[in-house]
Amino acid sequence: MILIGMGANLPSHTGSPAETIRAALQRLPGLGLVISAVSPFYESPSWPHGEGPPFINAVVKIETKLAPGSLLFGLQKIETEFGRQRGDKWGPRTLDLDILDYHGLVTDTETLLLPHPWICERAFVLKPLLDVAPAWCHPVSGKGVLELLTMLDGAAAASCQPIGELRA
Ligand code: AMP
Repeated sequence: MILIGMGANLPSHTGSPAETIRAALQRLPGLGLVISAVSPFYESPSWPHGEGPPFINAVVKIETKLAPGSLLFGLQKIETEFGRQRGDKWGPRTLDLDILDYHGLVTDTETLLLPHPWICERAFVLKPLLDVAPAWCHPVSGKGVLELLTMLDGAAAASCQPIGELRA
């Protein structure tokens, strides 16, 4: 299973963060990706400081013959197309695309860390991940997505909520 995390908290040339994510979803097939599931969109306060506009996040399940490095390269091209500037690691962004899991591959190279290191700590990843892949287990710990969600701080998890009317 291949899972991509999508996030945005600044407007792009396409519009609001939710509109940017919707537009970016439409660009995925052009990379050679087949979308098999898209989560609802979730809103959560910007992280880590709660400063800045809230984030919109979603998780998409895809199939592709692209190798992980080529997939990352393609996703970064889409980030750039939507105006992504690389600056502060935790700063505001028009579009962030992360490979969360690539068929359970565990790797740690200069450019690619898999599984994505944030999966276990972020409600905005785990909640939409549960929607698209409820049987998913972390490739290293073996913990299920629901178990990982229950381990999160309750207040942080509660602050991440679906925005149903903006579903993809
Ligand atoms: P970010 O600021 O989150 O967009 O981070 C981008 C950087 O993270 C890039 O330099 C990527 O090479 C690196 N990176 C490492 N692992 C991953 C991953 N699983 N998905 C996306 N980017 C990754």
